Amino acid sequence: MKPSLVGAIEAGGTKFVCAIGTDPQNIEEIRFPTTSPEETIQKTIDFFKAKEIDSGKIQAIGIGTFGPAEVNPKSENFGWITNTPKEKWQKTDLITPIKNAFGDIPFAFDTDVNAAAWGEGRWGAAQGLDHYVYITVGTGIGGGAVNDGKILHGKNHPEMGHLRIPKDSSIDLYPGCCPFHGDCLEGLASGTAIKERWNTDPSFLPEDHKAWELESTYLADAILNLTLTLSPERFILGGGVMEQTHLFPMIRTKLNKRLAGYVEIENIDNFVLPPGLGSKSGVLGAIALAQDLTS
Ligand SMILES: [Zn+2]
Repeated sequence: MKPSLVGAIEAGGTKFVCAIGTDPQNIEEIRFPTTSPEETIQKTIDFFKAKEIDSGKIQAIGIGTFGPAEVNPKSENFGWITNTPKEKWQKTDLITPIKNAFGDIPFAFDTDVNAAAWGEGRWGAAQGLDHYVYITVGTGIGGGAVNDGKILHGKNHPEMGHLRIPKDSSIDLYPGCCPFHGDCLEGLASGTAIKERWNTDPSFLPEDHKAWELESTYLADAILNLTLTLSPERFILGGGVMEQTHLFPMIRTKLNKRLAGYVEIENIDNFVLPPGLGSKSGVLGAIALAQDLTS
């Protein structure tokens, strides 16, 4: 059976990606900067309306958004972006204006990282796995987990980016950049933190710079904690900072040492991997979420 035509929105704090398509080989997308909610949501609606003229009625729309967001369908604020540090977007109802524009079609609404995890499971580096974690290390840090073949939610959604991890202040004097917690994982290891700590864009730091030693330590500590909590089969690390691929072997070595043989990992090289879908995990994940509503 031909898969239904579905729409996908990856709502990011700096850019929106909207797409229609069926799989990684068949996807048409547009990217634009995230400005005011009104303008950004209108551009999103305009994209899908234009695509419907060429391609026919969209059958479902999947949304993966920056957060925190209300992803519990039982909540009266389902579909809202809630306590984001992005002021203009605080308490923004993202889903209702889009629903109003497209009528009676099903919508999926989840975090960007949960969507990315779902996309990696459908077409990327987590195919065939029932338990895995996707973490993005970019301007901020976020994580989404799949457990028993389902996206792990809890009351709303996990906030893995804000885990507390050990910090040795004799090595790292940087106080951390998280507006809520200071030196949480995101506060210490996000691209924003690297930039502030070393006063330069992370992509300008050479591979042997001590920034990476610190970065891989923080990420290995976070992954250790998540391994012990969730017992996943794999971690997928995406986002701009992880384009520094030399971080992968550093993280694996440190993680292996921290695990100390207590949790059996068959092959550490397969345990921590880059995304199979590159920077498209999120938008493809939103497509996968929408497809689940039409099958
Ligand atoms: Zn934090």
